[in-house]
Amino acid sequence: MVCTGCALLCDDVEIGKNDCRHACRIGDAHITSTNQIGAMVDRSPYDMDAAIERAAEILVSAEKPVFVGFGNSVTEAQATGIELAEKVGAEIKTFRTGIFDDILDGRVKTCTLPEVRDYADVIVFLGCDPMNTHPRLLSKYAYYPRGEKRQHGWETDRIAITIDLRFSHTASICKEAYTIDPHRQIEFVDALMDALSNKVPKTTYDKKRILKLAGTLKKAEFGVIFAGTSAPPRDVIVRLMDRLNESSDFRLLPLAPGYNLRSIAEQLRNRPGDDGRGGNGGGTNLQEADCILCLGFDLMNSLPAHGINGKMIVIDPSETLTSRYADVAIPCAAGGIDCAGSAVRMDGETVEIPIIRESERLSDGVILKRILEVV
Ligand code: SF4
Repeated sequence: MVCTGCALLCDDVEIGKNDCRHACRIGDAHITSTNQIGAMVDRSPYDMDAAIERAAEILVSAEKPVFVGFGNSVTEAQATGIELAEKVGAEIKTFRTGIFDDILDGRVKTCTLPEVRDYADVIVFLGCDPMNTHPRLLSKYAYYPRGEKRQHGWETDRIAITIDLRFSHTASICKEAYTIDPHRQIEFVDALMDALSNKVPKTTYDKKRILKLAGTLKKAEFGVIFAGTSAPPRDVIVRLMDRLNESSDFRLLPLAPGYNLRSIAEQLRNRPGDDGRGGNGGGTNLQEADCILCLGFDLMNSLPAHGINGKMIVIDPSETLTSRYADVAIPCAAGGIDCAGSAVRMDGETVEIPIIRESERLSDGVILKRILEVV
């Protein structure tokens, strides 16, 4: 079975009658979750068909609709969501896909997860804490396993470094950890780039430590940077990657929330006449939207409720903060649990996702199709 608890899409998960083997704690909780919603309209229980109709009515009457999320849907449902967005004139906002655009455009080098396992000798966790977001990354690919050219694993063959805003769980197992000020991230990267160019960095950070870090990075035979949600802005990461690749060989892999974010980034880029930027948080301000459709995304968890003025439609397998406040909440089957399809792993590998158990829930793809038929 394939776990859709994060973008690693681990395909070795075995589901028994009462247990779930090989999955990490996030995957186990994801697979065994019973936190489901019923159909709701105006925060009251409603008939499923009527809720779908109500969602369609709201979308038809909206002048500035915006769709958000998409990272927790299978590729096929994302495609239907794009079709629906085009039909109702909605903008799609997929947060944190910009760095995928840089990879897909060839602005930064990347690699596959098996290549990380086989070749990586210096691994930098930049603004991420995979032990709490992608828990099996370290054991399957990034740190502990022995790979083709890394037969001794983490003890001697690999150096793992964190650069983050706080001393995270991942930092606690790395050989080196740099904790940086959230307001002085760019200063840190600029200082590191100076050090990589053999200049003494002008910074209030510890210069000796930055020079030591630059020395370690320059010696990398196959370096990998995993960039997470609290990494510096993407243009700063691209500049750093360019500088690193003047003296060594570094690849970038983003660690983003959602198991299928790379797929929506790819699909939005492939739309005729679209440069992909529409899907990355630009365009209409969410406060200006008169209707927001959240597809598998808990918007209110990341945006204060007072920033949302439009009608809210939620299509989600689970109850979330957003579904509790939504004008229309429609429950759907979860990808990889009771909905099959395909997804794109964080490194670009397409993975077929079977279902783990049957249910009577409609998939988000079917719900979107039904809305599409009536708008
Ligand atoms: S690492 Fe991610 S994909 Fe793998 S079992 Fe854990 S949650 Fe699931």
